[in-house]
Amino acid sequence: MPMNRRAALLAAAGVLALSGALPAHDGPHGGPTTASFRVGGDGGVNVREDVTLGDTRVPKSKYRFAHRIEGDAHIITLTRIATRSSVETVYEVGTALIAGRQPRKGSLLHAKEAADHSLHISVIEIAGEAADHLPRTRHGTR
Ligand SMILES: [Zn+2]
Repeated sequence: MPMNRRAALLAAAGVLALSGALPAHDGPHGGPTTASFRVGGDGGVNVREDVTLGDTRVPKSKYRFAHRIEGDAHIITLTRIATRSSVETVYEVGTALIAGRQPRKGSLLHAKEAADHSLHISVIEIAGEAADHLPRTRHGTR
């Protein structure tokens, strides 16, 4: 029976992997794909691809970007503005800080392609802060 049990576990793992994320795009890959999304002066950001933020899937859309500090925690929120067909949605993630050299002039979200070809937000730069912000997941940062 050990073989059957193993096959069942592998099948379950496959299902989990498939449900986790859809490919951001098709086509040949010459290497890791990256993207970055700049926060405008009005606090808006156009996320042009579906991305993963922490453990959450964030669909491509325009968002209001915010950053706040609660105690020691630096928290990022993306708010999808309500439209006629959708309600306002808030995506929030805590971050881990990596020391940087000098304060950033603007806020920027960097995305990196994962092994499953989905894009995940890897680093967030915050205007006026030197530290890089790494989105936390249930299992730490990526
Ligand atoms: Zn911060």
